[in-house]
Amino acid sequence: MSDRHYAELAEKLARTGDLSDGEFLEVIECRDPEFSELLAEKAREVREKYYGKDVYLRGLIEYSNICRNNCRYCGIRRGNKNVERYRLTKEQIIECGDTGYELGFRTIVLQGGEDPFFTTERMAEIITELKERHRDCAVTLSIGELEKDDYRRLFDAGADRFLLRHETADKEHYSLLHPEEMSFDHRMNCLKTLKEIGYQVGAGMMIGSPYQKPEHLLKDLRFLQSFKPEMVGIGPFIPHHDTEFADREAGSVALTLRLLSVIRLILPDVLLPATTALGTLDPKGREKGLLAGANVIMPNLSPTNVRGKYLLYDNKICTGEEAAECIRCMERRVESVGYKVATVRGDHVSKRKE
Ligand code: SF4
Repeated sequence: MSDRHYAELAEKLARTGDLSDGEFLEVIECRDPEFSELLAEKAREVREKYYGKDVYLRGLIEYSNICRNNCRYCGIRRGNKNVERYRLTKEQIIECGDTGYELGFRTIVLQGGEDPFFTTERMAEIITELKERHRDCAVTLSIGELEKDDYRRLFDAGADRFLLRHETADKEHYSLLHPEEMSFDHRMNCLKTLKEIGYQVGAGMMIGSPYQKPEHLLKDLRFLQSFKPEMVGIGPFIPHHDTEFADREAGSVALTLRLLSVIRLILPDVLLPATTALGTLDPKGREKGLLAGANVIMPNLSPTNVRGKYLLYDNKICTGEEAAECIRCMERRVESVGYKVATVRGDHVSKRKE
């Protein structure tokens, strides 16, 4: 393919936010780094139009690694007997939130396996207390699939955003990554319900997951275009040694970066994290993610003694440092690529409260 053809594709995507199916497949399948840079340049222009040079930090509290589900790719799935399980107490969670606030975080993310101990009422109490202590702080939940009344109760308790990766927009592919008892339709309905309730919603997929074909990624892009989530989390698939996918190859960093740029161009004002998985496969992965159009980073606020136990995949980074070290390290990384950390909630532009 000629340079001119790539320039035209990048230009069309930046101008219209859309391509034909065939063109999207070309973008997904092409391996030319110059084309990636072209897309990244356009993506940076767009992100700077909406968010300037700001990068938003989210303080991640991984409060439980107990999960009722058995996703086939996940290191903490119920069937893995080699995991040392933990649960933080409410007091520990609140303390992590206080530390995060003092360090300048204005979004706290509560992330956990689908742990039945944390009932909707218990979660609502935690959210209420976090919001009472830190009124200018947003709370994001990443706690999996629930029913509509539960989602509403947690929203009413003060939760602002909800991350629920769809993982793949292809039903058959979904069934190859998850056990029979998990339902693609239920996952997709959860996403719709969250949006109806008023959350800022995050969807997202793994890049390079087992059995993934370019056509699946095309479906993911089409889904993102139509669903219009406020946030999109994508990261390369990384195998975990205690799963049946232990011997699979990890997803490609280059393709993940390219898709970050594409997502920025199809959803110009999206909140887009440069994920830890990207930083795990490439020491400069998160910086490269920012240069590809990402504008969010999620440092870990969990107590250091549990971090090494929340391992969805192997070799996860940032499992040793204290929260304060993490934030300084992130600030340096962000500045090294010409951006700056903003001490604000960092809402989606359509839902700004600051
Ligand atoms: S991916 Fe999430 S829901 Fe699935 S087993 Fe892991 S923690 Fe549980």
